[in-house]
Parts: sequence; C-alpha cells; structure tokens
Amino acid sequence: MAELDASKLKVTLSEKKSKLLDNDKLVFGRSFTDHMLSIEWTEAEGWAAPEIKPYGPLVLDPSCCVFHYAFELFEGMKAYKDAKGNIRIFRPDMNMIRMNKSAERICLPKFDGAVLTDLIGKLIKIDERFIPEGQGFSLYIRPTLIGTTAGVGVHHPDRALLYVILSPVGPYYATGFKAVSLEATDYATRAWPGGVGDKKLGANYAPCILPQLEAEKRGYQQNLWLFGPNNNVTEVGSMNVFFVFKNPQNNKNELVTAPLDGTILEGVTRDSILKLARERLNPDEWEVNERYYSINEVAEKAEKGQLVEAFGSGTAAVVSPIKKIGWKGSDIDVPLLEDKEYGQLTKTVQQWIMDIQYGIDEHPWSHVI
Ligand code: PMP
Repeated sequence: MAELDASKLKVTLSEKKSKLLDNDKLVFGRSFTDHMLSIEWTEAEGWAAPEIKPYGPLVLDPSCCVFHYAFELFEGMKAYKDAKGNIRIFRPDMNMIRMNKSAERICLPKFDGAVLTDLIGKLIKIDERFIPEGQGFSLYIRPTLIGTTAGVGVHHPDRALLYVILSPVGPYYATGFKAVSLEATDYATRAWPGGVGDKKLGANYAPCILPQLEAEKRGYQQNLWLFGPNNNVTEVGSMNVFFVFKNPQNNKNELVTAPLDGTILEGVTRDSILKLARERLNPDEWEVNERYYSINEVAEKAEKGQLVEAFGSGTAAVVSPIKKIGWKGSDIDVPLLEDKEYGQLTKTVQQWIMDIQYGIDEHPWSHVI
C-alpha cells in the first residue's frame, strides 16, 4: 500500500495567469490562486501520485459519501512573506497532527504530515506571486480531505481525495482591532463529551450557523458556546477563548482558558498563546490556567471588578478582543483600554504571535519553505 510520496509529484501548470487583486480588495476566502494540490487515495492501493494542477471544479459522482454522510474534514493555516522575501508557515506540524486525528475519527486515510507540508510548500512556491505582502497579509491554506466512494449506503469510504487550495487574505481587522459582542449560548450545544467537537470536521460547522444568525438578530456578532449544567465556557464562534481575571487573594492576574477535554478544538493559536504566556509573563504577577470556568463566574467577576479582559484566538484573526457578553437578558461588559478596542494582554499576545509568523522574532515555530 503506497504511502504519500512527494517524489512522485506531477505538476501541470495553468495556462491562465490570474490578475492579482490589490491588497485592499482581498476578502477572506473569496479568491483563490491558479493552482491546487490534489491526491487520490484508494483502500486497495493507498496514496496515488500527488498532482499540482490548475485550480478548478471537482467532478464527483452525486452518490459520493461526502455528500450524504459528511465524510469531510479540513484544516486552516497560513503562509507569510517576511521582510527578506522568505515564505513561512506557522506550526504546520500541529495542523498536520490535528488533520490526521480528524481523519482517523471518520475513517478517512491518514498520511505523513511532513510529506503533505512539503507538498503544500511546493504548491505555495508555484503560486508565490499571490502571497500578499505586509503585516496582517498572508496566504490562507485550506487542506481538505473527503470520502469519494460512490453509492448510497453507510459504510467506511474506500476512496478519498485530499486537496489543498490557497486564498490570499488581508488582516482580519482591516482598520485595527474591532472588539466583538457575544451572546452566551446555552440553548444550542456545539460539542459534547464523547462527541467530535475537538476534530475539524465540516459537520461541526453547519449546525452552528443558525444559532449565530439568531445571536445576530439580537444584536450580537458571535456565540459564546457554553456546555453542561454549570454553563461552562468552551469556545467563541470558531475560535478558542481566553479570559483575564484579577485574583484578589494573591493580587495576580489569571489568564484562563477551557481545558482540552474533547469538547473544544485543539487550537494551534490557543496552544501557542499558552506556551508563550507561560514562558514570557512574570510568574510573580500572572497565573496561566487551563481549567473549567462558567459564565456565572465571568458574570460574578465582572460585577466585582475582577474581569480584566477577554479575547478569542484562532488562525484567521490571531486574537479577537471581546467587549460584551449577553447572558440571561443583560450584558456583561468586558473592559477595554481607554479609547481602544482591546485589552493590554490581547495586544501583547497578538504582537508575540505576529512577530513569529513574519519572522521578526526568529522562532522554531516559523517553518521556512
Ligand atoms: N475552535 C474552532 C471551532 C475553530 O474552527 C478554530 C479554527 N481552526 C479554532 C477554535 C482555532 O483554532 P486555530 O488556532 O488552530 O486556528
């Protein structure tokens, strides 16, 4: 059975040379580069030769299992151009590990993550001219794996297709941070113990849109997902979430986020923030904790003046400051710095991560291709 093998790569260049969009015209995920990576898999033969070919439609039998039983998973990562013109990807090994965990859970084939990273690097180099330059600009990378077995009948796929597309993107907040308002959501559940909320399956995302539209109707931008009888805070929209509390007992600040218990996505940004915070924040002033905390704890702390700031974390925005949370008919106000749309740590953490992504801070997490 053939393993994924980058040395078998076949490249067919596109005859079309798309015009590049100006940086200010880039809308997240709307335009794509001229090429895609595509690799077929069959149970009988394993991974076929990878192909880089012109970006274009897939031709699939309408009975394919991806359309009926959601055999689909994806990843989201970014490539950055640094000041010297190097192309860098942020912690691709983490995305590859997560992609393989997602694949394993829905019986799609696993692969060597280093080989796929190598192939993605080759694709990016072919479409290098699409990488927008400047802080906040990047090339979004969307690896996708689908089951392509034709025939209606629920069983494990014996055919699959792994493909990767690339989209030039601008900063999430084009005019600087814009703090978001959240509706704490207890009537719909994003993920549950024993479920698949910690996997990046397409099937986890479609059911979250209706609650998001409902929240929008009530004037909030995203859902703050709660779970369980205590209404524990889990994630926000499609980001992990962090709160900063003041602990009056030891006068320290506490940076807190929910633990990895299977009900939250194992965010690469979340992991990076935790690691950097543990390394770089002064332990005499800070505690960094992965623990359960409820929306009631957030509300109580806000009331006592112990809520310092809050932010979401994810590849798209790096960090996304939070300004208020609707809960039980009233709003919890989250402090922001005076005249600013963010708190102090939110800004610090954003800078730490962007400096690594753009090679300003030379760090092993930044993978030069
Ligand atoms: N939670 C969910 C549900 C997500 O979709 C994402 C985006 N991948 C995240 C958290 C953040 O993960 P990452 O930092 O790896 O982008």
